[in-house]
Amino acid sequence: MDELWEPPESPVQRCSILHYLNLVGINTPYVESLTSHISRLAEAHSLYPGVLMERGIAPLIAKQYTGGNLHTIYSHTCALNGTGVMASDLVQALNNLTGHRQLHLLTMLPWVEVVPQRELLYSSRFWCPQCYEENRISGFEIHEPLLWTLKIVKICPIHQQLLFNLCPHCGQTNYLLSWRSRVGYCSKCQKWLGASRSGSLYEYNSVPEVEMQRLVWSANAVGELIASAPSLPTLIARENVARGLGNCVEFFADGNIAEFARLVQAPKNTVWLWCKGKNLPQLDTLVALCFRLKISVLDLLMNEKIETLESVIRLSPGKPISTRRSPDTRLADLDRVESHLAAVLLDHKLPPPSLEAASKALGFHRETLYRNFKELCRAISARYDQYEQIRYLRSIEECCEEVRQVVHRLHREGTYPSEARVSQHLTKPGYLRNKRVRSVLQETRQGLGLTK
Ligand SMILES: [Zn+2]
Ligand SMILES: [Zn+2]
Repeated sequence: MDELWEPPESPVQRCSILHYLNLVGINTPYVESLTSHISRLAEAHSLYPGVLMERGIAPLIAKQYTGGNLHTIYSHTCALNGTGVMASDLVQALNNLTGHRQLHLLTMLPWVEVVPQRELLYSSRFWCPQCYEENRISGFEIHEPLLWTLKIVKICPIHQQLLFNLCPHCGQTNYLLSWRSRVGYCSKCQKWLGASRSGSLYEYNSVPEVEMQRLVWSANAVGELIASAPSLPTLIARENVARGLGNCVEFFADGNIAEFARLVQAPKNTVWLWCKGKNLPQLDTLVALCFRLKISVLDLLMNEKIETLESVIRLSPGKPISTRRSPDTRLADLDRVESHLAAVLLDHKLPPPSLEAASKALGFHRETLYRNFKELCRAISARYDQYEQIRYLRSIEECCEEVRQVVHRLHREGTYPSEARVSQHLTKPGYLRNKRVRSVLQETRQGLGLTK
């Protein structure tokens, strides 16, 4: 029987010597960072992260930057969550030690080809006190999201407040990982960093509503990237950036780079270099550009092409706080809708779209468009009605001709062309109710001497 027995599929490989901990928040925008995972791993082994790193991990990491001495790299530990060799070496070493295969998903490594390292990561630790506190109270695994390590993310999208990087107890900053790091605690004074909003130790600075909307949008756009990483190819190709931007130039500016550059307020030459794939925009630049266009960063990078404005306007991602706004408020910041409507009107393609179809393609209710762009909508409707009228008259004429032919044929076959018999041979029998068609039937029969 032995040869028939297969070991059950287990995530823990025999060679692993460290605990296999779940990846907290995987498949969500709040997946933990690699440095958070290391802190939890150390705690699970009742070790300081420093000890774990030095004894267990450092010997496996290439010596070029540390020489095995972690004290010399603490100020660079932010890079452990990034896209560089420090992150990839550590991922490889930890995958081997824990039996994991997916630790790269706790870093920005999946995006290494499309996101430049410059200005990508905070050099110190940032956090949301309310997230810590709520996780503690609800008994959910305390962890530090990868999202908090990215410079583009200034706020917690769940609590819509600025992230903090100064300990309220000792007033110091923390490295992403240090000898005594512990998730949720200051690595300097070892005190708990979580706090509820009311009676908080923290001083909350208010952010103007419009600015907060932009910050939440940006954090959610990046959260969408992070959440999608497990379901995407291991490496997102560099060409995706140029293709995505090229699609945008095509969609928003009819292929005119200069006009597109004006639209996104970027230098024309820079946009040209991006579209040719010669340069990559920094993540913050890419997110800002997508915010202007209201296109999801993930869609820009992954979609073959932009199909409709419907997908463009979608704000990303809904969880756990939806940033989707009502069609009316979307309209307020979408002045380009007006130029799209004008383009619909000027386009001489036949048949012209109805206002219904045009609004659907733009992702708005017809009434909303009508309320805001009355003249354009009226013109679109009028042209559509006119076209429909002409088309109807033409098909009535076609029906009359058909009636003439059917009457003659039935007559040749020796059958009386009654209304019922004629209607059986018509492409559109319903048109026999039309006055003009009925009179043609009458006239044709009379022409053949059939006066019954
Ligand atoms: Zn929070
Ligand atoms: Zn402290």
